[in-house]
Amino acid sequence: MASQEIENLAAALSRLPGLGPRSARRAVLWLVKRRDTALGELAQTLDAVKELLVECATCGNVDTRSPCGICADPKRDERQLCVVEDVSDLWALDRARLFPGKYHVLGGKLSALDGVRPEDLAIDALLGRVEAGGVDEVVLAMNATLEGQTTAHYIAERLEEYPVRITQLAHGLPVGGELDYLDEGTLAQALRARRPVG
Ligand SMILES: [Zn+2]
Repeated sequence: MASQEIENLAAALSRLPGLGPRSARRAVLWLVKRRDTALGELAQTLDAVKELLVECATCGNVDTRSPCGICADPKRDERQLCVVEDVSDLWALDRARLFPGKYHVLGGKLSALDGVRPEDLAIDALLGRVEAGGVDEVVLAMNATLEGQTTAHYIAERLEEYPVRITQLAHGLPVGGELDYLDEGTLAQALRARRPVG
């Protein structure tokens, strides 16, 4: 039986997605054996990230700076804006740089059941970005759920008054946690085959 501190570390690690108690223990053992190198490095890195984490004031991405790395990247095509429900969707899409433009994170989806209204999401901020000009196309990359699609329709309606092309993925994104398992070919295909809304 390990000391309470080591047990606590194992318990904390076991709460990470994809890491059960057994893998957590294995990770702890690995770290303990490398207490002078990897353990210190991990502790420092975690501390640094925790200190710096901030939500991008422009797109809602989470990064260590605001504007985030994507918003600040001059090589990104500002004329294309991809709207996603959550940061996890942004990261999945951006994993392989599948989308050349920039993003907008809504922070959820409309849901009568959960009481999520349009004003609870970053929809006004999105309209503000479009209104500011320079955007040619808004890609609605919502999850393939009823609520995701309802959200997409609502946003498409709100965008109608602006001179932008509104498209959506050929297939909606799978829900949250499954994104990691979605291969890039499928995502790339859904993006390539995106179609106009309405
Ligand atoms: Zn950003």
